[in-house]
Amino acid sequence: MQASSPENPSTFLNLSLEAPLLKAINTMGFETPTPVQSKAIPLALEYKDLLVSAETGSGKTAAFLLPTIQNLLSVHSDAIGTRALILAPTRELAQQIFIQCQQLIQFTELRVGIITGGDDFRLQQNMLRRNTEIVIATPGRLLELIEQQTPNFTRLETLILDEADRMLDMGFSEDVLSIANRCNAQRQTLLFSATLTHFGVIKMADKLLTNHEIVALNTLHDGHRNIEQQIIVADDIDHKQKLLAWLLLNDKYDKALIFTNSRVQADALRGPLRGQKLRVGVLHGEMDQKDRNRMMELYRSGSVNVMIATDLAARGLDIEGINLVINFDVPRNGINYIHRIGRTGRVDALGVTVMLVKSTEWNLMSGIERFLKQSFKRRTIKELEGHYKGPKKLKSSGKAAGVKKKETKKKDTTEKVKVRLRDKKNIGKRRTPATQKTTESTSNQAPNTDQ
Ligand code: ADP
Ligand code: MG
Repeated sequence: MQASSPENPSTFLNLSLEAPLLKAINTMGFETPTPVQSKAIPLALEYKDLLVSAETGSGKTAAFLLPTIQNLLSVHSDAIGTRALILAPTRELAQQIFIQCQQLIQFTELRVGIITGGDDFRLQQNMLRRNTEIVIATPGRLLELIEQQTPNFTRLETLILDEADRMLDMGFSEDVLSIANRCNAQRQTLLFSATLTHFGVIKMADKLLTNHEIVALNTLHDGHRNIEQQIIVADDIDHKQKLLAWLLLNDKYDKALIFTNSRVQADALRGPLRGQKLRVGVLHGEMDQKDRNRMMELYRSGSVNVMIATDLAARGLDIEGINLVINFDVPRNGINYIHRIGRTGRVDALGVTVMLVKSTEWNLMSGIERFLKQSFKRRTIKELEGHYKGPKKLKSSGKAAGVKKKETKKKDTTEKVKVRLRDKKNIGKRRTPATQKTTESTSNQAPNTDQ
């Protein structure tokens, strides 16, 4: 990479690495640490748990290998068993890490081994029995070995998951968790991912990391998943419903997923959207499993292409073709937000997310922006512009402004909208007027959240 870039003044010398490592770095021709290396290495050297995201090619491998090797060097151990375990999704990737690790430990006494499918099982068992300090593995084969009782991870000092997002996409989630369960509970865990916009990565971080620090070097627009994140301000729930209908009738998407914070709200949205002739389904925790499965099937097959869901019900949802996610309610925190938007923007597709924000949700929304170190794209829909425009500049709590007056004005917009929507949608179509039911009152008086 670049020799000594002015925006990255740190050097490997002030990262507290020992001579054999510095010599190896030098031999490999690395002159200055990359940004992810400068950020992650000092934290990892303190045995902190880390969730790190940085784009492909940013030097993540050395960002976890260097501190791990340094920590192995600085603590003398006669421990039996593996001291550092690195999991990677594919053989090729494991091989790449293995080679870089060999280069980095070439002037030390440490040993590294690799365990991937397709290679000799016996040799791998032997390698593990020799107490090789660093082991790099793909999850599937490692589990087979674990079933034979060979590996001993009870004294493991560091567990690293590289390309966690890919590992999850490849269906390794369960395997990774059961491997982690066999490891020393006191270990350090480092989770690396090209992006945080993958709901599974955050979920896995919740399970495997303790008091972790997040090192996020890419914005959510970077990485493999291209998600365009928009917000539209709204006056109130009614206004939100109109915006929602407009988006579903006018934006392009294969499948749309709408999140609400409560099951009552999820149910309440269905009627009006069906009235718009949209193929709508609902998923929430109150429904029995059979109905949920049926809904998922309909959505998967495309018979239903608009799904309204609560967070809880959507947890297991992994469906191709979702390229529009609408947050009808602003989620309660940034992690929930990431879970939600992670359903779109799959590898080859462009995903769009829209969050509808009313005045009382503004602070929550800007908190999420701060959490993500990113600002969402403001979008307005001319036909449906409301009164609330976000807090007034220089006024920190512009809370009251949009709330009170909306009732009267809202009505006019409703009328305009109905006409407008019909005009647009009915081009070339026959339609009976007044199909739009105003509300399908919520038969479900269950508590407000979907716990
Ligand atoms: P990532 O895992 O983030 O996709 P890699 O760890 O595979 O990236 O690194 C990408 C390339 O950059 C590799 O060829 C690696 O050897 C090289 N590299 C890593 N760190 C440095 C550095 N500090 N200086 C120069 N090259 C580096
Ligand atoms: Mg990598």
